[in-house]
Amino acid sequence: MNAVRRWLRSLYEAMELSSPGCLFCGRPLQYRREQEPGLCLACQDRIAWVQGEVCPRCGKPLHGRDGPCADCARRPVPFAFNRAVAVYDGIWKELILQFKFYGRRELARPLGWWMAGTAMRWGIRERAHALVPVPLHPRRLERRGYNQALELAIQVRERTGVPVVEALARTREPGGPQSLRQAAARRRSMRGAFVAWEPALVEGLTLVVVDDVYTTGATLDAASRALLRAGAREVLGLVAAVGLTDLDLADGGPEGGDGRGHP
Ligand SMILES: [Zn+2]
Ligand SMILES: [Zn+2]
Repeated sequence: MNAVRRWLRSLYEAMELSSPGCLFCGRPLQYRREQEPGLCLACQDRIAWVQGEVCPRCGKPLHGRDGPCADCARRPVPFAFNRAVAVYDGIWKELILQFKFYGRRELARPLGWWMAGTAMRWGIRERAHALVPVPLHPRRLERRGYNQALELAIQVRERTGVPVVEALARTREPGGPQSLRQAAARRRSMRGAFVAWEPALVEGLTLVVVDDVYTTGATLDAASRALLRAGAREVLGLVAAVGLTDLDLADGGPEGGDGRGHP
């Protein structure tokens, strides 16, 4: 009897070890949809997924108002549209911060997996020729060890089959002071921040700029302009999260801001 009990215990321990817990709360995963990367259902239920009507341009939820949203109505945007998985809040925001600032590179998998789902839901997979990650300045890349946008793009490629093309380069250290919280100022500071270094890579193509968070659109604006200038036919955006207000720009994480922050 003891032998059976010991055997059961070792079997149980082996199962525990072989199934890593929820990436957010650590609880054992009771149930997992096919290939879905490890967030328990309780955590998934607490994420503010972008559902229902969204702004036809930036992809922020409209909450019953007419689109485009007030921000997009005020200015023309160079990209066709942007789409996001969830609102930059709660668990989803925490996952992104850990992914970007705490070296939890493995979180690219769940974030990118759901981004791929968003790309499929909005017909981005069929429309796009390539995914273009927002580049990180070389100095930041060295400090962080990885470009979070590239990590996400690779995960999106895994699930959608759309190739990744690193078509953009940074022309200068991003940024300006952290107090640049106004959308217009943020956009001015990003102007000319990117260049498509090899026009042959983008000419005539529909490209999806991949980034972690969209708030003011300053990054996607600047990236889109660089790609269109180099001859791209059309630019779309795909992000893990949309920030709802400019207040999100104040939240630069422990590095004291990402430079490109969360525009
Ligand atoms: Zn959980
Ligand atoms: Zn909008």
